[in-house]
Amino acid sequence: MPSIAIPTALRQFAGGNSAVQVQGQKIGEAIADLADQYPDLKKHLFDANGNLRSFVNVFINDEDIRHLQQNETAISDSDEISIIPSIAGGSATEADLRAGSTPLPELNKDEIARYSRHLIMPEVGMEGQRKLKAASVLLIGTGGLGSPLGLYLAAAGIGRLGLVDFDVVDESNLQRQIVHGTKDVGRPKIESARDRLSDINPHIQIDTHEFALRSENALDLIRDYDIVIDGTDNFQTRYLVNDASVLLGKPNVYGSIFRFDGQASVFYPASGGPCYRCLYPEPPPPGLVPSCAEGGVLGILPGIIGVIQATEAIKLIIGQGDPLIGRLLLFDALKMKFKELKLRRNPECPLCGENPTIRELIDYDQFCGIVPETVEAQTDDDWEITPVQLKQRLDQGERITIIDVREIHEWQICNLESYGSRLIPLGQFPDRITELSREEHIVLQCKMGGRSAKAYEALKKSGFTRIRNLKGGILAWADTVDPGLPKY
Ligand code: ZN
Repeated sequence: MPSIAIPTALRQFAGGNSAVQVQGQKIGEAIADLADQYPDLKKHLFDANGNLRSFVNVFINDEDIRHLQQNETAISDSDEISIIPSIAGGSATEADLRAGSTPLPELNKDEIARYSRHLIMPEVGMEGQRKLKAASVLLIGTGGLGSPLGLYLAAAGIGRLGLVDFDVVDESNLQRQIVHGTKDVGRPKIESARDRLSDINPHIQIDTHEFALRSENALDLIRDYDIVIDGTDNFQTRYLVNDASVLLGKPNVYGSIFRFDGQASVFYPASGGPCYRCLYPEPPPPGLVPSCAEGGVLGILPGIIGVIQATEAIKLIIGQGDPLIGRLLLFDALKMKFKELKLRRNPECPLCGENPTIRELIDYDQFCGIVPETVEAQTDDDWEITPVQLKQRLDQGERITIIDVREIHEWQICNLESYGSRLIPLGQFPDRITELSREEHIVLQCKMGGRSAKAYEALKKSGFTRIRNLKGGILAWADTVDPGLPKY
């Protein structure tokens, strides 16, 4: 029997399995069988019309089924079948990047000493190092991916590095965002990153852009750089970066991370390669894809993926090697395996295809939110309860059942057990609804309020009426009720 590899983000809907054996001679039958075995997976894989969702791609070995016979593609037991959902990351020549540029800058004596290990490599040499000095790279985000990117690109002598971020350094960032230090907690990330990068290399120029990338500013900002590197953790920025770089003909070095899985590629339609929308034409709707904050990430993972992105940027600049254009590199840290999938330009791509429908930038404001549409559309504002209100009601002796829908490892970090909270992870929720009574007053709680909103929907559909969602989850509880509670 053939088996289908299940990506980390979807395993919770497939009984926690990393691979599932399926029946079928053709890929369409195999996927239908998978959905029959795990009905919870169905809505993540198919839209209302029964078609595979646009942000879910199926590969047989290293080939996308859209470039084979689609659902009719025959499969055998030895085929490696994988589902690659989007995860809330040709051959370019130097001429592409340097068209119309001024002559290469000279290196001074200090720079020659500093870059000597580059200069003695024939692939870099004086000319390559001068290209690096002449180059400008825009880093979107100075977080998990942006940290190793910034550190290595600064050290390598990229002449002008642009940093875009508007966040401040939080203690929970330090597990992976290694450009920032403990002394920087509370500072704007952009200042902390600038100080560290200037310390690494005082010969480079660092431009700081302390704002969120939006449809109004993305084109003007990206226009001014040779290469864009996507180091964001959210879909709205990812689509904005992709669309703006395609419209401007710039290469976009992509990376993304989730728990133990990483992806990297170079999107560069101007040199014949595909763009992110060729792979995923539309962003996923809210709620279907977990964000990094909800899903967690191994601290080392952005280091690995960010360093791959930095390597790709440097190769593009010096015009050496085979770039990741038209290739999606997948990394599984648990198995310590890299895998490569072929990406092709999609002639139907709404952005870089033959008849593009997207000609300007789009802000996708809501879809990264973890709250499902049905809940978002609620007008009844008393479906939620704030931590302060809940504490007051508990203090008044009201009997309220708090149900925590996070995972066990999150419960072990912090929980409301002293208020009688019980753990029912969201994945087990449908099977364990019977443990709850419609007579009880129930408050649903998770980390930030997103997963518990889904549990709320499930209870509502099952006829529960005395239910509330804890607004902002246990993090809001820690912020407003119990500052002693550990945050993560
Ligand atoms: Zn495209």
